[in-house]
Amino acid sequence: MPYAKPNPVVVAPDALAQLAAYCHERSHTHLLIVADANTDRALGRKLEATLLAAGLDVRKVILHGEEIIADAARVYQVMLALDGTPRALVAAGSGTITDITRFVSHRARLHFLSAPSAPSVDGFASVGAPMLIDGVKISLPTHAPAAIFADLDVNAAAPRAMIAAGFADILGKFTSVADFRLGHLLRDERYDETIAQRTYDVARVCQVNAEAIGQATPASIALLMDALVESGLCILDFGDSASASGAEHHLSHFWEMLLLRKGRPAILHGAKVGVATVLIAGIYEQVRGLSRAEVADRLEASTLPDRAAELAAIDAAYGAEAEAVARTHGAFLDMTPETYDTIKRRILDNWDEIQAIAAQVPPPAEIARLLEIAGGPTTVSELGFSRAEAALALDNGHYLRNRFTVRKLARVLGLDQERSLL
Ligand SMILES: [Zn+2]
Repeated sequence: MPYAKPNPVVVAPDALAQLAAYCHERSHTHLLIVADANTDRALGRKLEATLLAAGLDVRKVILHGEEIIADAARVYQVMLALDGTPRALVAAGSGTITDITRFVSHRARLHFLSAPSAPSVDGFASVGAPMLIDGVKISLPTHAPAAIFADLDVNAAAPRAMIAAGFADILGKFTSVADFRLGHLLRDERYDETIAQRTYDVARVCQVNAEAIGQATPASIALLMDALVESGLCILDFGDSASASGAEHHLSHFWEMLLLRKGRPAILHGAKVGVATVLIAGIYEQVRGLSRAEVADRLEASTLPDRAAELAAIDAAYGAEAEAVARTHGAFLDMTPETYDTIKRRILDNWDEIQAIAAQVPPPAEIARLLEIAGGPTTVSELGFSRAEAALALDNGHYLRNRFTVRKLARVLGLDQERSLL
């Protein structure tokens, strides 16, 4: 496959000593640690001490401030901390610190190592670096870390909200894998059964170990970190994030853009994904409740959405970003009545298969119960969103990607007119 994978991936109490040994073996004698004030306290100092004790030449840059955003100022700050010597960059942190380090190391052609401080997101092994460019968040293709070293004690001691967020990002795989299957079945979207199964398995492992993850036992945190890395490896192996990111992620992305636009504080990615997964699992539950005869009636009444009305909806929901969203969504906007009829026919012909896919998604109440056990938010109001903002995301989140998710299925079946989810 096109992308180099991290090797080794170490999740262990002595991970930092192993990182030092790795650097010696591969002659990475000069290093720059990137951290923020929190991750420096939790991990950076311990990492720095370990590397210095091993006789390595270590610099460290701490990104200060309440909310670290992957933007030009942060990139510049990391560049300033470099000297003329080629240095391996070590991201000592979770999502954003890793993304900033990922981007700089790629563009400066430096070796990139990841030392996660919290099991909060499945992006550690990722090649995409979401960066804020002129106010718009864009995921730039970069590279995966050459290796990952997660100190188990540090990760088990991470804030509960961050552990819950990582757990919720994994629970989202129940709906993302089901969407991955639907897209293949109904619209011939690119698919791989092994990737689907691997991604589903990580969700199952975390579901079964929810209690222990809620208590942050070291063994369960190792399971969670392994699950997050494995989900990322599935993305690398498949070549895009389709298996790990479905309608639940589209809602989360919508909310993230809304917060940015309104200048409101960011919310942990996984926290948004968890609540969105409850909502999307609700759509799967509605799908499970439909008989074949009912579906036939609904399809009979279903017509291709009007292009002008779709564009107006995108414009109203996305403002300045509407044009880019409409471009991404082009394949759906340009759909002919014939293509629409083909999808309708496929829905009816494959209704048993659709039911089998939907059966693998736990009911929304079960998703909410699991999130609660882990200590994460379960409702939109806990995230600080109004019902109107939740409805806005449900109505418009699906425009963000060119994918056939259960949200699209609900639309064809007219389920989106029945707002019983909120
Ligand atoms: Zn995610």
